[in-house]
Amino acid sequence: MTFATLGLIEPLLRALETLGYQTPTPVQAQAIPAVLAGRDLMAAAQTGTGKTAGFAVPLLQLLTMEGPKVAANSARALILCPTRELAEQVHASVAEYAQNLPLTTYAVYGGVSINPQMMKLRKGVDILVATPGRLIDLFRQNALKLNQLQTLVLDEADRMLDLGFSEELANIYRMLPKKRQTLLFSATFSDEIRQLAGQMLNDPLTIEVSPRNVAANTVKQWVVPVDKKRKAELFVHLMRKGRWKQVLVFAKTRNGVDALVDKLQGLGINADGIHGDKPQATRQRALDRFKSSDVQILVATDVAARGLDIEDLPLVVNFDLPIVAEDYIHRIGRTGRAGNTGEAISLVCADEVNMLSAIEMLTRQTLTRHMEQDFEPEHRVPDTDASGQVVKKPKKPKKPKTSGGGGKRNLGKWVESGDASPVEPSIKPVRKVPVFNTGPRKKK
Ligand code: AMP
Repeated sequence: MTFATLGLIEPLLRALETLGYQTPTPVQAQAIPAVLAGRDLMAAAQTGTGKTAGFAVPLLQLLTMEGPKVAANSARALILCPTRELAEQVHASVAEYAQNLPLTTYAVYGGVSINPQMMKLRKGVDILVATPGRLIDLFRQNALKLNQLQTLVLDEADRMLDLGFSEELANIYRMLPKKRQTLLFSATFSDEIRQLAGQMLNDPLTIEVSPRNVAANTVKQWVVPVDKKRKAELFVHLMRKGRWKQVLVFAKTRNGVDALVDKLQGLGINADGIHGDKPQATRQRALDRFKSSDVQILVATDVAARGLDIEDLPLVVNFDLPIVAEDYIHRIGRTGRAGNTGEAISLVCADEVNMLSAIEMLTRQTLTRHMEQDFEPEHRVPDTDASGQVVKKPKKPKKPKTSGGGGKRNLGKWVESGDASPVEPSIKPVRKVPVFNTGPRKKK
């Protein structure tokens, strides 16, 4: 199959050729004809499989072939993304695909001055990429009208629909024309979100190009059990031993990111960090420098877990496991992209066993453990498997007392290890609960 057989117009074919895209990926092969036919979509595909072109390329064609010229302060298509970095990246891809078309594209997001964005919107843009908060600001300040909108795309739709954005999304929905095309793209869809999305779409076509909730099989994954207090030391040890060149490291909290960056920089290691407390320009600069290999180790919170495309990234390290099991798939999806191989290593302490279990259950695999010499944990990480069970090591049987006084006497019954009921009730993956119109926005 070629892009030409999917019915794409010549300027798009030329752009794809310039980018070196020879054949459509599976998600593109299914999504492109469906979007061109005007269908609503709910598409689940692994990260790094070409989702962006899957929606952007046919969208550009529709906007070129159909509909009126864009009016002042308007947009004809809107792509919503959960993070600023992703908005910037998606916009860069859209602009590349649109290089031979007479269409305008632009990205708006928070953390930077709103005035240049307002100026830019004056003439209107055909495709606007946005994060939800800034989009609402622009709308409220009358810098943007959405009555000309033909198509809405939710990228990383599961994240967009979860609690953190529920209020903003509900607001945005009220601003949109009822008659429009809606496309949901995501690597993961929980059943609850699938149901909710089903209610928002009009006779949607469901595309599922790979098994649900499975990480790309090009990523070799393993776990190193370690005590919490020795994680940083282990990280530096593994880094030196493996001569790691470019590593994206995920930590749970903003403080955790700062502490690890400080420690690495203190050792003369070329590291930088990204998290929600940092100004947007600093975040983008750190990411750009990491992408161009000027920074060797980038430590981030889950703000960098979604969708970021870092060419040939060989390794992702989970310094801490994510609280939401699905984020594990997104994090490790930063490596092994576009058919390359990659490696994902998780440093896991005893406290994190339930998260490990939830990840194994979600991805339906038991992660290989590798014990690093001299870092064997004092607090053992209980065994886990893909069934979601945490297997506690049976306690050593107590020897019966043979003499001595008082109290209840153990009457000499030895407990065999098999009788010790080692299995805890099964543990479910932590689920994000989609709720609309409730609660304050979760800070990222
Ligand atoms: P995405 O999943 O959209 O972030 O894309 C992942 C990577 O695959 C990006 O670097 C794209 O430029 C690249 N890509 C997307 N589609 C194709 C294709 N058909 N052929 C080659 N590379 C592609």
